[in-house]
Amino acid sequence: MAIFDYAPAPESSAIVDIRPSYGLFIGGEFVDGDSDSGRFKTVNPATEEPLAEIVDASPGDVDRAVAAARHAYDRVWSRMPGKDRAKYLFRIARLIQERSRELAVLESIDNGKPIRESRDVDIPLVAAHFFYYAGWADKLRYAGFGDDPRPIGVAGQVIPWNFPMLMLAWKIAPALAAGNTVVLKPAETTPLTALAFADICQQADLPPGVVNIVTGAGDTGRAVVEHADVDKVAFTGSTEVGRAIAKAVAGTRKRITLELGGKAANIVFEDAAIDQAVEGIVNGIFFNQGHVCCAGSRLLVQESVADELLDSLRRRMTRLRLGDPLDKNTDIGAINSAVQLARIRELSEVGAREGAEPWSPPCDLPARGFWFAPTIYTGVSQAHRIAREEIFGPVLAVLTFRTPAEAVEKANNTPYGLSAGVWTEKGSRILAIADRLRAGVVWANTFNKFDPASPFGGYKESGYGREGGRHGLEAYLAH
Ligand code: NAD
Repeated sequence: MAIFDYAPAPESSAIVDIRPSYGLFIGGEFVDGDSDSGRFKTVNPATEEPLAEIVDASPGDVDRAVAAARHAYDRVWSRMPGKDRAKYLFRIARLIQERSRELAVLESIDNGKPIRESRDVDIPLVAAHFFYYAGWADKLRYAGFGDDPRPIGVAGQVIPWNFPMLMLAWKIAPALAAGNTVVLKPAETTPLTALAFADICQQADLPPGVVNIVTGAGDTGRAVVEHADVDKVAFTGSTEVGRAIAKAVAGTRKRITLELGGKAANIVFEDAAIDQAVEGIVNGIFFNQGHVCCAGSRLLVQESVADELLDSLRRRMTRLRLGDPLDKNTDIGAINSAVQLARIRELSEVGAREGAEPWSPPCDLPARGFWFAPTIYTGVSQAHRIAREEIFGPVLAVLTFRTPAEAVEKANNTPYGLSAGVWTEKGSRILAIADRLRAGVVWANTFNKFDPASPFGGYKESGYGREGGRHGLEAYLAH
């Protein structure tokens, strides 16, 4: 029995004003879809209640958005001095800060993530990205990409649902700073913060057509990336779709960056501070319900401390609170969609069928909505599907190792290469191991730490190109 329990501490949703239906944001205005477009509903994944009706944009709508972006590029944005572009980006950053509570609540309602995360991680990072790239807009000559780096043109950008507004910021902030205009398509299950961002663009008096938001599903995304007048494609999403997009743009003049899936190893050596490592493991796989491309979904623990660490991890997991995303004490919110929940369930069941042993803390799942209890699997071998495939949910596969060489071999034994974590007291070991890991980001004695100044991206099937930092500008500059 719990010694004490938390009183409910729900954040009020009164601050958000969700309209019954939304149009597309094209040429600085909200407009209806054309006669070929459809409509669909976005749903609150914690309650299954419909939130708003959204346009399923047609190729004709995408064409209008690209034309608006081209016009703004040619006439206004590419000609504007960097210091003036910076003013708009600073203004957008400040508006995001001013409206941060509203945006955090909206993100949690549409996505299902705990308010603690949207309030303390997502939205502050969104503002930080706009501030950071605003600072670059008039200093591109000093970024190391030649004396006169030029923008590329119109960027077609497609993003996923796991960090809806943060992925928007990763895409739009560097593109605009470098002088490009954009057509962005948010994921079909999480369009609301992108539409709120359109409102912020209007509030900031951003010249019409510099940012265009078209909502819709995969077909709309395809129309964006395959549009003949798009010069640069930026995609974040699954490896499967990334592969299709790479094929579609191969042989065209388009530049492309892909941020795809991952299956990161979180490696704990016997000399690591166990309690700290346990916090890092929990953060690595249960943050954002595990809907994180760089999630530490494979725990590699040195055999000599495996029992101690797993005892401690299980104890810690019994303290995780799953439930209402708007409750300030919630650690684990709702799974974003019924489709994603089905995928997590399927892979999790495969794990048990293949002989691994699941464990979850006692956990009451709400009757409505999409939920999955935090789960760890022990007795996992490298051949198991749960050790190889991205589950994109709160499911951890635990493997052990004896020597550092074995840890590196197992960590690299994956088609992905987005991130990794190393836990050890020895600085020299951190450097030696990090050097041998084929991963774009390696965290040492921490996990899932993001900063706009730091580049992010993958090796192998995790994609190519970098977002964030000075490196993130390169993808948006012709040089
Ligand atoms: P997804 O690939 O199904 O969808 C991503 C986006 O692409 C959505 O907006 C979708 O509508 C659109 N889309 C679907 N088919 C398309 C097509 N044929 N052409 C163009 N666009 C299309 O992925 P998802 O399920 O939404 O997101 C989860 C995946 O995203 C995971 O694999 C995760 O690892 C990855 N992800 C990667 C990063 C990263 O930075 N590397 C970040 C977040 C998520």
